[in-house]
Amino acid sequence: MSVRAKKHLGQHFLTDENIAKKIVDSLSMNHYQKILEVGPGMGVLTKYLLEKEAEIFVAEIDKESIDYLQQHYEKLDEAHFTGDFLKLNLEDQFKSQVAIIGNFPYNISSQILFKIIDYYDHVPEMVGMFQKEVAERTAAVPRTKAYGILSVLVQALYDVDYLFTVHENVFNPPPKVKSGVIRLTRNPKEGLVGNEVLFKKIVKAGFGQRRKKLSNSLKVLEIPEALQTHIFMDKRAEELSIADFISFTQEWKDAM
Ligand code: SAH
Repeated sequence: MSVRAKKHLGQHFLTDENIAKKIVDSLSMNHYQKILEVGPGMGVLTKYLLEKEAEIFVAEIDKESIDYLQQHYEKLDEAHFTGDFLKLNLEDQFKSQVAIIGNFPYNISSQILFKIIDYYDHVPEMVGMFQKEVAERTAAVPRTKAYGILSVLVQALYDVDYLFTVHENVFNPPPKVKSGVIRLTRNPKEGLVGNEVLFKKIVKAGFGQRRKKLSNSLKVLEIPEALQTHIFMDKRAEELSIADFISFTQEWKDAM
């Protein structure tokens, strides 16, 4: 018996054991005892995770997959199934730190990344497979097309490594696009503390009209008087580094 792939759940099952092992081995495993796998499906990653010295939890919404996992992996008792990842309160569920791993459902990629940022204090590390384009955007550097809101919001809190690309033919059924595996490692968010909300607003407005200079794109916010002649105002959002955005946010705050 195996699980029938359902399109609306973003199910594409990885069939290459070496790649599965490589993804699991990309977690550093150093600083935590709990790992949550999002979207385990038939457990191609789970079985390697269960060999590790950590407590493994799985977030899965497909009933058929859950039945399959319960039948095939004795170690996974009911208490280790958490249901829908997007509805999960990571703080209540885990109390302490939890690393996240998964070959994620691609239809909710950015929601997964934004959720991890929201739970920054609880998530020290994430290793995951996304559609290649999302993996690239998350890891992108300034002055590239891929650099945008996702890159800046994630990289302000996590160091991002693009690890490797995965071809569509190692999945059943094959997705339409290539995939990319990335690792997020939490970095100390000095400079951003207390300014997260304003930071997000500036980044979103700046990239909202990414072809325009910040003096234009930031007009939707109330630009403090003292910043109207700031040297960044003559630049486009994609020219600013993460550190630039962080220092700019601080200056903005001070000028308010
Ligand atoms: N990790 C498996 C399956 C990947 S397919 C493999 O590599 O083969 C993505 C999986 O995510 C599916 O099993 C799907 O049921 C599950 N999924 C989809 N939405 C989800 C959600 N909101 N929370 C948890 N799991 C979800």
